[in-house]
Amino acid sequence: MSEKIERLKTLIIGSGPAGYTAAIYAARADLKPVVYTGMEPGGQLTTTTEVDNFPGYPEGIDGPSMMVQLQQQAERFGTEVRIGMATAVELSDTIGGIHKVTIDDNKTIEAETIIISTGATAKYLNIPSEQRLRGGGVSACAVCDGFFYRGQDVAIVGARDTAAEEASYLANICNKVTMLVRKDQMRASKAMQHRVGSIKNIEVRYNTEVDEVLGEQVVEGLRVVHNQTGEKEDIAITGLFIAIGHKPNTDIFKGQLDMDETGYLITKGKSTKTNKPGVFASGDAQDKEYRQAVTAAGTGCMAALDAERYLASVETPQETV
Ligand SMILES: Cc1cc2nc3c(=O)[nH]c(=O)nc-3n(C[C@H](O)[C@H](O)[C@H](O)COP(=O)(O)OP(=O)(O)OC[C@H]3O[C@@H](n4cnc5c(N)ncnc54)[C@H](O)[C@@H]3O)c2cc1C
Repeated sequence: MSEKIERLKTLIIGSGPAGYTAAIYAARADLKPVVYTGMEPGGQLTTTTEVDNFPGYPEGIDGPSMMVQLQQQAERFGTEVRIGMATAVELSDTIGGIHKVTIDDNKTIEAETIIISTGATAKYLNIPSEQRLRGGGVSACAVCDGFFYRGQDVAIVGARDTAAEEASYLANICNKVTMLVRKDQMRASKAMQHRVGSIKNIEVRYNTEVDEVLGEQVVEGLRVVHNQTGEKEDIAITGLFIAIGHKPNTDIFKGQLDMDETGYLITKGKSTKTNKPGVFASGDAQDKEYRQAVTAAGTGCMAALDAERYLASVETPQETV
């Protein structure tokens, strides 16, 4: 199956803010990193029009342009960026051991260190009107996009702690927040439910689901349906936030790397170290708490520094067999 074997000092899997920041640091430390971009070169930010909160862009910047700039910065120091998916891994348990990664099912990379920055994918409802209006008023990130709806009426879908937290965040900025909960109760903790209940401009609607997002180019309203009575109603909103969870892109590491019940990679203490020596995890793939570009970039930097220190500490790696 595998035709070619190539040995790398540092392999970076994923090309979002975490991967490219790791690449900038790794390249400047002469680790000669290779980045595999995966199916979404540039990562999640390529799906958004405006990024207003990444430091260094006083006027804001659109997501795709920002990611091109990050790629160029990584390439300036010699990073090689390749299109390709990591499809399987065989991670060594030995300090100084060599890890094997299969790319696109047909090429084997041997790597002394691996930096995982495969991100997490936001879950959507997957109804056609919602998909069509993504970036036109439908967002999966209240902290990222809430600001664009200040003073306006918005809705949020979700019933867990994150949804409750995002609803409270939006309530500070927006005129009114309608929270749609599919069941007859929330799944958020009692404390979060209490918090939501105490905020005057949040209206929680139970047993209520999105039937259709209204609007051609941008969100102009929402048709909701009561799932017990079948009754439909149109609500005037300009923004719809989907807060029904994320799926970390970590399936290929299952059984080899420690992860939590949802698949977020577990790192040791304040480092990016995983349970395998020489394998480091950064960005949203290991962070279910913050999930921001700047925090992803921060942990990408940490992963490269951790990889550099690890390489300096190990003996000469084994030869390719
Ligand atoms: C609509 C939207 C708007 C947002 N707006 C903002 C904002 O304004 N500000 C902000 O700070 N944050 C924003 N975020 C959040 C931000 O995009 C993420 O926190 C950030 O992109 C995470 O970076 P990352 O590098 O960890 O992962 P990602 O950006 O998710 O990148 C993951 C990378 O891994 C690759 N990959 C996955 N699996 C594999 C594999 N098997 N092999 C190879 N490659 C693989 C993907 O192709 C991708 O390149 C937004 C998110 C969304 C969805």
